[in-house]
Amino acid sequence: MREQIEIINQRIAAACQRAGRDFFDVTLVAVSKTVEPARIRQAIEAGVRVLGENRVQEAAGKILELADVVAAHNVTWHLIGHLQSNKARRAVELFSAIQSVDSFKLAERLNSVADELGKRLPVFIEVNLGGEDSKAGVAPGEVLPLCEQVATLPALELRGLMTVPPYLDDPNDVRPFFCRLRALRDEARQAGIVGSEFKELSMGMSHDFEVAIEEGATLVRIGTALFGSRA
Ligand SMILES: *Cc1c(COP(=O)(O)O)cnc(C)c1O
Repeated sequence: MREQIEIINQRIAAACQRAGRDFFDVTLVAVSKTVEPARIRQAIEAGVRVLGENRVQEAAGKILELADVVAAHNVTWHLIGHLQSNKARRAVELFSAIQSVDSFKLAERLNSVADELGKRLPVFIEVNLGGEDSKAGVAPGEVLPLCEQVATLPALELRGLMTVPPYLDDPNDVRPFFCRLRALRDEARQAGIVGSEFKELSMGMSHDFEVAIEEGATLVRIGTALFGSRA
């Protein structure tokens, strides 16, 4: 596990260097869906500090089971999968950030739960850049209007954008999608509809994270390259 993390960190560092970026501006989100708690514990002990899960139910058991090591190492959990409004309460209780906000209705629900729990919850808007039916997220044309609405919700802190672009064999072919997400972030900032904390780009997975970093990713979500294939 230690070795795997070291290899990924070296690849992140090399991509940063190519792009003239600082290694510390890129956060590794270790995607632990389907991974057993014992292995997640090893990853935390080896230095992983942010974990990504895509289902509230699956994450709940792990987060409870790993409570000791999570507390000892200041680990945070990000929800990266689609969230239904009826699970919003549990999600706010369990996660430090929700990367998959894709409607104002969901954002309002998260806002009211966060408010009740006395939290300010970091959120990202998920964007479906490829227009794929199989994927969650809002269309690019809806990003700015949704950002403007979400930015008004006081218990949410709108941090940036997230995307899962189409899978293409050559990671270089994914580059235009990463550029597009960056352009959308910059547009929202220039339009003055978001706060100064709106700067994150969560993009890049095992197959294409180096290209994503070259195009400005501030969080990369890596599962199989860290934990092995999910079978
Ligand atoms: C599973 C998943 C990942 C990680 O994918 P890998 O290809 O295993 O690195 C990243 N983001 C989301 C939203 C996922 O569901």
